[in-house]
Amino acid sequence: MRIVLAASEVAPFAKTGGLADVAGSLPAALARLGHEVSVFCPYYLQVEESGAMIREVARLFVPVRGGQKEARILEARLPGAEVTVFFVARREFFGREGIYGPGGYEYLDNLERYAFFCRAVCRASRELELAPDVFHLNDWQTALCAAYLRHTYGGDPVLSRAASVFTIHNLGYQGVYPPWKMPDTGLAREHFNWKELEFYGQINLLKGGLVYADVLSTVSKRYAREIQTHEGGYGLDGVLRERSGRLFGIVNGLDDSVWDPARDPLLPARYSVGRMAGKRRCRGELQKQMGLRPGSRRPILGLVSRLVEQKGIDILLGAMPAIGELPVDLVVLGSGEHRYENALADLADRRPGRIGVRLGYDEKLAHLVEAGSDVYLMPSRYEPCGLNQMISLRYGTIPVVRETGGLADTVVDGIDGFSFADYNPEGLIVAVRRAVSAMSRPVGWRRMVARAMRRDWSWDRSAGEYVRLYELARASAGLPPAKRGKPKRKRVASRKKNAGRSTPKEVSGRAAKARRSPARKK
Ligand code: ADP
Repeated sequence: MRIVLAASEVAPFAKTGGLADVAGSLPAALARLGHEVSVFCPYYLQVEESGAMIREVARLFVPVRGGQKEARILEARLPGAEVTVFFVARREFFGREGIYGPGGYEYLDNLERYAFFCRAVCRASRELELAPDVFHLNDWQTALCAAYLRHTYGGDPVLSRAASVFTIHNLGYQGVYPPWKMPDTGLAREHFNWKELEFYGQINLLKGGLVYADVLSTVSKRYAREIQTHEGGYGLDGVLRERSGRLFGIVNGLDDSVWDPARDPLLPARYSVGRMAGKRRCRGELQKQMGLRPGSRRPILGLVSRLVEQKGIDILLGAMPAIGELPVDLVVLGSGEHRYENALADLADRRPGRIGVRLGYDEKLAHLVEAGSDVYLMPSRYEPCGLNQMISLRYGTIPVVRETGGLADTVVDGIDGFSFADYNPEGLIVAVRRAVSAMSRPVGWRRMVARAMRRDWSWDRSAGEYVRLYELARASAGLPPAKRGKPKRKRVASRKKNAGRSTPKEVSGRAAKARRSPARKK
């Protein structure tokens, strides 16, 4: 299959969270299965600074409110994979310090930025002759692609042959804007209605993805159920229930080339089941770097997280007086809302040698916390999938998680981790006590750690499920199965020559229209 995957962040080029990990490793797994994957991502300052080998392959004009603007399309290889990453570059939109905004805030022109990105993805897919069988869109930033495929390119001879899959990585972020910004989407005002982009008087981009894509998915089966309930639906549960026959849960995998304690170059020592001395060295290094008392044998509880309400930082803070009574140390690496950053920094000041807090984003330290801790805390209020609990299982760091979303689907209570149901400090305290007590029984603990480390989180299994989803999307759109065999693609040089020449006309061939199933039309 020829797959175009669009995401607002892609590891290792630009990352704020788990979405980047998925967008950086699912394409590699799909390529290993023999599919041709092109990834699209905006060209942020972060990408520029990542030092990746990038070259320009096209320039094209993208319609914007009141005219058009040029986008440069740059190309790089996804490290270690047969995957091309195309970056949409325009300094005015993406050449900024942050990805979504400065210090936890949103840029005021995010609608314009991501509308520009989505239009560039559609146009570039056509101009570069990628001939996609399926567009895999991710989260609200790419939702407008689904709208353009339906309304702008519904009659395009190339793009109308592609189905669309929309994956929700986090329903808590929806891209909501005032109605007067509708012209910035480039869509006709008539699409601002309660069956399409309107949501309680506002434009809701994520909702667009939910109504326009052929098939929907999210990143765990449990979360797929939760978002269809009033409590977990963030107001969109009705829309999701309506499409429940087309909504699937596929749990994320872990990228072995990044997260494997036996080969992790970011660790001071490596280890594996049966050869655990390296983990003890990581533990010592973690104590040193986070200012914990060196040589202490107290269990270390670790946490690496965006410091936002979703991650359960408030119940962790509420539980700290009781957890502080236990013979444990705590390390936290994270950044986010100031109220949490301040409260955590205060805790560290009050308990020097017992609590270490590092505010900021630090890839290397994240690996060390995962490897050097004994127990990993993930008390999330909700968690679509969660990577950190899988990482900690792989690193033999027993997770304590709230039983929600992907955490409930991946951690087996009492077998390879500990979970608690109710979202309150007491629940967390009880689960931490159980973990600490289990750790005091070394034989059982060692067995639990070994079981955790042997769990299989390979992307290959999840990638296979995505392929079935892509096939289903094509069938739902009334499109024939994607052709097998070696796809033909023009050489880059000729792509560049042709790209940008054609005008942004909307093709409306009858034959192309006929290929569309009636189900796709509004
Ligand atoms: P989310 O996507 O909601 O942030 P996930 O658990 O799915 O949560 O993924 C988080 C990813 O981001 C993990 O790879 C984690 O190690 C990384 N991460 C989060 N905060 C930091 C930080 N402050 N420094 C380094 N890595 C971080």
